Amino acid sequence: MSSTDLSALRPRLPSPLEELVDERFGRCGVRVVLKRDDLIHPELVGNKWRKLAPNLAAADGRTVVTFGGAYSNHLRATAAAGRLLGLSTVGVVRGQELADLPLNASLARCVADGMRLHFVDRSTYRRKGEPEVLAGILGAAGAEGAYVVPEGGSNGLAVRGCRALGGELRGRADVVGVACGTGGTLAGLAAGLGVGQRALGVPVLKGGFLADEVRGLQSAAFGGPRGDWWLDERFHFGGYARTAPELDAFAADFEERHGVRVERLYVAKLLYGLLALTEEGAFPRGTVLAAVVTGAPFDG
Ligand SMILES: *Cc1c(COP(=O)(O)O)cnc(C)c1O
Repeated sequence: MSSTDLSALRPRLPSPLEELVDERFGRCGVRVVLKRDDLIHPELVGNKWRKLAPNLAAADGRTVVTFGGAYSNHLRATAAAGRLLGLSTVGVVRGQELADLPLNASLARCVADGMRLHFVDRSTYRRKGEPEVLAGILGAAGAEGAYVVPEGGSNGLAVRGCRALGGELRGRADVVGVACGTGGTLAGLAAGLGVGQRALGVPVLKGGFLADEVRGLQSAAFGGPRGDWWLDERFHFGGYARTAPELDAFAADFEERHGVRVERLYVAKLLYGLLALTEEGAFPRGTVLAAVVTGAPFDG
């Protein structure tokens, strides 16, 4: 097999669509289906498959360099892809101080999958979009000439890859909810949906900057705005990786009711938000609501 023959990894595509029987939504006349992207591949999980696959093909055997924080799902997925496809990978990790500490379970998994880690201080990390700063990082990491995938994996190729998620949901739902980090998945999803379908993004980061990001990603991927989408910024619980007892209790209860494991950084906030919106009456009776399960919990 060629080093970038992703079909050899046997992704489960289209991902399954499962009915969710939950009286809290049922009482409000809303039917819910789960779009199980978490079942696409056990290691290249969820939206990370959709975003990475076209980039791995474009890397064409070159070393892949990408960026993330200490618990990044994207870094782990990239490292796993490297192992499965025989590609070298380098992870640029936010936080110089982490270099002197024992690796956490997420970074340890990256290393076990063959990823070389390169730690940079936070101010350099923040400026990695500037060409000279990026060149400096690649030089220091010994990765000149590598194929660079941006933080969170969101570039034009990734967004075009996520269009297939929308395509798989055509005719299957009125509203499709997805949790957002960079917004790349939402940008592609919205572009792939059919006429009359709407995508709802639930940002897990605080800041209110995401709508501009999504517009920018759509213009990089498609040359302009696509689809019908909106954001609800109320469900980040203080920001990335922040939580609250109420959110944890909600997620644990959801797992118990439905036998579906709930990833806490993104998926828990999406599901919480969709229930809150439903109970507020945001969706008319008869609405079919699809919730995208973009990932699975990491067990360390
Ligand atoms: C990375 C990730 C997201 C965020 O995707 P974006 O395209 O960056 O918005 C959502 N859910 C899960 C489980 C993720 O790992």
